[in-house]
Amino acid sequence: MSKYYEKIIHETLKETGIPYRVNAQGTHAVLLACPVCSQKNKFFADLRDGRFICHNCVGDGKNIKGGLTYFVSLCRGETYEESQARINSGRTISKLFSDSKGDGSALLEKVKSIYAPNVANENNMDCYDFPEIKLPPHAIKMEKGSPAYRYLHNVRNISEAELAKLDAYEVPASSTDDLRRLAAGLSKEKIKEMYAHSGRVIFVQKVLGKIVGYISRDYTGKRDKKNKVLNSVGSWRQYCLWNWDRVKNSDRLIVTEGIISAMFCGEDATATYGNNVSNQQVSLMLSSKAKEVVIMVEVGAEINAYKLAFALMAHKIVKMVFLPKEKTEKGDWKDCANYTVQENLDLIESTPYADEYEIAKKMKEIVEQGKKKPEQKGKKDRKNYRMEKAMRLMMK
Ligand SMILES: [Zn+2]
Repeated sequence: MSKYYEKIIHETLKETGIPYRVNAQGTHAVLLACPVCSQKNKFFADLRDGRFICHNCVGDGKNIKGGLTYFVSLCRGETYEESQARINSGRTISKLFSDSKGDGSALLEKVKSIYAPNVANENNMDCYDFPEIKLPPHAIKMEKGSPAYRYLHNVRNISEAELAKLDAYEVPASSTDDLRRLAAGLSKEKIKEMYAHSGRVIFVQKVLGKIVGYISRDYTGKRDKKNKVLNSVGSWRQYCLWNWDRVKNSDRLIVTEGIISAMFCGEDATATYGNNVSNQQVSLMLSSKAKEVVIMVEVGAEINAYKLAFALMAHKIVKMVFLPKEKTEKGDWKDCANYTVQENLDLIESTPYADEYEIAKKMKEIVEQGKKKPEQKGKKDRKNYRMEKAMRLMMK
């Protein structure tokens, strides 16, 4: 979703006169000749994340590949440091601030150029390509008064009105005899799957009416912390937002981490399935009709909340609602689900809109703090890492 890499790749290739074409999918710049080995059509630069590879060049026994800075240095025939300085020139935070001359407009323009809703229509969204998935065997629709319903209502205090709107399923946690009966005729694999989900409430993620993923949560209290939640496989969570079909046309979005928290934040609430918000999720939020995005910030999730606020602020009015530093009886920090819907809505009402300048200043601090720590490059954090890197480069 970032236009940042795309812009630099095009700029570099045009200014150096290196002939290239963009592939049919619009995802890669394909160089007509590799700047290193001159081989035709073997050098691909990814316009979405700035990474490149030449499938012909071999260095250190591997294909030559790397990130944006290396790409620029290869194309321009300059050192890595020279390219780094080139990329960073005009992108220092002090320059951003001096450019903006107090009203923040230039800074906002910069943020706008990096984080933009890149979808012409919703059918182009990545998440719409996800295949429909099947629920675990013998999952039944959650009904009023069922074990899963009683858990959500009596233990988690979710209102009947909210539960009535909920699209949830459950696999019975009945006696072993019952499960044995249900297992009859199922394949070994299906039996295993059914047992894994028995005694759980299943919250489904739908996209245009089809189920693309689910979160299956224990309601028996018999499973340990590690096994409490079971997700359907795949990367759907980073492409989706909870309740999206219901909230995408709202005037405002209220963003929480967890889906149960969202059930305590009223009509416009959505959840990101964790506090690491992916670029795709930011893109979804940007594509929504909402003028205003309210970020519910749990204790400990402040940094990711600022990152999200920063990514949204050029296009949306942002409100950051910090939850009170209060603990539950168990000693955990309270989240939205520990307050009533009215309490959460009151807290939102009484919180002023975030100041873009304050967000930008905070981001500068976060970026500088991050520089001191080694970068995380794990596969799992890839998307988040990209988002951070884009910001870091911009704010240097
Ligand atoms: Zn090559």
